[in-house]
Amino acid sequence: SPEDYALLDVDETGAPVEPAEVLPVVAVVGRPNVGKSSLVNRILGRREAVVQDVPGITRDRVAYPADWAGRRFMVVDTGGWEKDAAGLDARVAAQAEVAVQLADVVVFVVDATVGATGTDEAVVRLLRRSGKPVVLAANKVDDQRGEADAAMLWSLGLGEPYPVSSVHGRGSGDLLDAVMAAVPEKLLGDEEHAPGMRRVALLGRPNVGKSSMLNKLTGSDRVVVDATAGTTRDPVDEVVELGGREWRFVDTAGIRRRVHQTSGADFYASLRTQAALEKAEVAVVLVDGSEPLAEQDVRVITSVVEAGRALVLAINKWDLLDEERRHYLERELEKELVQVTWAPRVNVSALTGRHLERLVPALDVALESWDTRVPTGRLNSFLGQVVAEHPHPVRGGKQPRILFGTQPSTQPPRFVLFASGFLEAGYRRFLERRLREEFGFTGSPVEVSVRVRE
Ligand code: GDP
Repeated sequence: SPEDYALLDVDETGAPVEPAEVLPVVAVVGRPNVGKSSLVNRILGRREAVVQDVPGITRDRVAYPADWAGRRFMVVDTGGWEKDAAGLDARVAAQAEVAVQLADVVVFVVDATVGATGTDEAVVRLLRRSGKPVVLAANKVDDQRGEADAAMLWSLGLGEPYPVSSVHGRGSGDLLDAVMAAVPEKLLGDEEHAPGMRRVALLGRPNVGKSSMLNKLTGSDRVVVDATAGTTRDPVDEVVELGGREWRFVDTAGIRRRVHQTSGADFYASLRTQAALEKAEVAVVLVDGSEPLAEQDVRVITSVVEAGRALVLAINKWDLLDEERRHYLERELEKELVQVTWAPRVNVSALTGRHLERLVPALDVALESWDTRVPTGRLNSFLGQVVAEHPHPVRGGKQPRILFGTQPSTQPPRFVLFASGFLEAGYRRFLERRLREEFGFTGSPVEVSVRVRE
């Protein structure tokens, strides 16, 4: 009966749905060819194929959800780094530096068959300075004999080297135990702050004005640098007072570091985007209004939707726009951003401060939508009415009916519809549109899944 369905908290596969949680970030760092990607594959249990490194190509996806012994975390694979030989040391170090900033725990991979190289030692110095917990993986230890090679790596001064064979899977359990043990107890120190503080990620491709906006937002207001007690790590988040309330801007270190001035900017940007999204509830995506909309802008926005976070669009550099550009911009936005017509938009200038005060109401409405729970009764009377007015088209003499709907979770709102037959994609989109018209959801992705009753 419909009442039975109401007890289920499931996604489309029938798995229980958990509310958005903040996961620890584990970065896998090391020289090219030490086996980072195969180790990441191993950690993921090969459930997710990691795209092989292609020189010159920036991978979209660098962070993957994983779990070990019942604990969930994100693995950041830094293997996408370009691999030309020149300036290798500098690049590996730069890569490690960024990954380390983002990570809660670093897995440093060394090729035990080669031993510690000068580059490895340089990275170790950097890891030490960071104060982040590091677990040393001695890779390519395929058999007992390799254990001696692994033991040599004590010399790096990073503590016990964990011998692994990421190709054969040997030793990865012990390594993961060590990684989990190294995850700081209090990831964000949230408990020590006002409980209601919302977490915001400031995102956008390089040069759209993220650091300018951050400066403007923090400049006149009080900034509390949030050093996590008891660790020596750099503060990664900043608490910013806006509209009389405190907001946690996550991973502002990644914005202030201006890594985009180095080569490989795209890769870093995408790494940062995904790590910041993990920690945020809502993203403000900045777009440079004075320039044509880029594919990378769309990619950042897509990442937000895929991560299920609330979204506010900020069109920046408004001070540079003339009448003609504004006209074209509107057409571009209409054409390229159809998937997020629901996102509130503010036209701002980080330089002059124009309309920055509009961010807070936009954030509020997006987060409110993100948190919304539609009572089951109300949802079903609405569904009944919609279906009566616009029934699913008859296909092959059959007409699938919607039996019942429920919203098992929020952040973002997820709906499960129970139907007597398969619902066409067009009809699902229609339902989502009607749900939005009825209940708002401005600024939040909405997931609608359908379960067909056997
Ligand atoms: P980030 O890479 O996203 O952090 O971008 P930055 O904040 O470093 O900005 C890139 C460049 O754009 C800098 O030269 C800024 O001064 C400039 N910029 C940022 N915001 C604005 C704006 O609203 N108007 C104008 N005219 N320039 C801006």
